[in-house]
Amino acid sequence: MITSDSVEPALPAAPAGAGDVGCPALVTTVDLDVIAANARIVRDIAGTDMITVVKADGYGHGAVPVARAALAGGASELGVAWIKEGRALRAAGIDAHITTWLHTNDADFADAIVDDLDIALSSTRQLEAVIAAARQVGRTATVTVKLDTGLHRSGVAEREWADFAAALAAASAEESVQLRGLMTHLACGDEPDHPLNTEQAIRFDSAAVDLARLGIAPQVCHIANSAATLTRPDLARDLVRPGIAIYGYSPVPDRGDFGLRPAMTLSAEVALIKPVAAGEGVSYGHAWIAPADTVVAVLPAGYADGVPRSLSGRLRVRIGDRIFDQVGRICMDQLVVDLGADGGGVTEGDRAVLFGAGTGGEQTATDWADLLGTIDYEIVTGMGGRSVRQYRGGGSHG
Ligand SMILES: *Cc1c(COP(=O)(O)O)cnc(C)c1O
Repeated sequence: MITSDSVEPALPAAPAGAGDVGCPALVTTVDLDVIAANARIVRDIAGTDMITVVKADGYGHGAVPVARAALAGGASELGVAWIKEGRALRAAGIDAHITTWLHTNDADFADAIVDDLDIALSSTRQLEAVIAAARQVGRTATVTVKLDTGLHRSGVAEREWADFAAALAAASAEESVQLRGLMTHLACGDEPDHPLNTEQAIRFDSAAVDLARLGIAPQVCHIANSAATLTRPDLARDLVRPGIAIYGYSPVPDRGDFGLRPAMTLSAEVALIKPVAAGEGVSYGHAWIAPADTVVAVLPAGYADGVPRSLSGRLRVRIGDRIFDQVGRICMDQLVVDLGADGGGVTEGDRAVLFGAGTGGEQTATDWADLLGTIDYEIVTGMGGRSVRQYRGGGSHG
């Protein structure tokens, strides 16, 4: 495990605020101290050890820096979907326990074993492939059983369970694999009172008993995603497995924000300012016609960068401490903001915050998601295109 002492010096810090010289045109700023603080909050609520999920490049925040910050904040382990995501963490020098759980037929189990990744198995076929890889590299594979208790997505299916467990016991006896974990994933974790949550946990616990009877009791069991970690302490076993909460979003907003703070801010530099007369249309299709003489600003952010076109006319951006409406269609590379007749005191080169923690009155990724009828997970993982990621804080000092 990486301690705060072994964490590398702080990543290059982002400029301190809006309008800084040298700040790229479009920036996704990730505050690593906030990630560490969120990890601490979630860990304290859980009261158990914690796997932080850093799949999909750390939910779009950068897997390696997030992993370091979360470990510094109190996570004990990491989780990713793909083996190659786990290997990238190893290549960056992260030596915490890493569990990987999504494997196709061509999955590189041999590399996973050599890199000391914990391979979560969803089928007997995957187990057989891991056994073959373990023999090939001459090492014992560390594995977790990913049990399907009702999500019906990944995980060992109930009808396959008896055969799978027997094959696992045999493989353990010949030491090609060593069972470490038992995990399952909830279908309705974000509905804390949904009866399926408890049903899934009952199936899970009974599978743990089956494994113990076969002489291969798992060392660690884990069920809870962020939502369950925050709302269903009875579902915590040896570990919890949160993702989104570490990035600062509550998957159960009606239960509160738990003190979590969004770590990501999307900001853009004002590229151009120009007057528009009453009656003139702005952007493709003239979906917005200026009702009065006004001044508009062009921002270099569009749907190619992760700003959804379907938010057209519904974005509000913060420039300084003022909030301005985005108007007309969001384009591939740019969007337009109405500054009002007096230009709002904005000049070219100023920075506009498109979404952030919301503390300055700007929209949050959750606001965008609500407007779009989706979830904030999709917004933050969708940031990309030409935006440059910058980090604040080290995640190791707080
Ligand atoms: C993504 C994922 C998580 C984290 O879920 P959050 O809702 O982001 O907390 C946990 N476990 C598994 C298996 C996952 O795929």
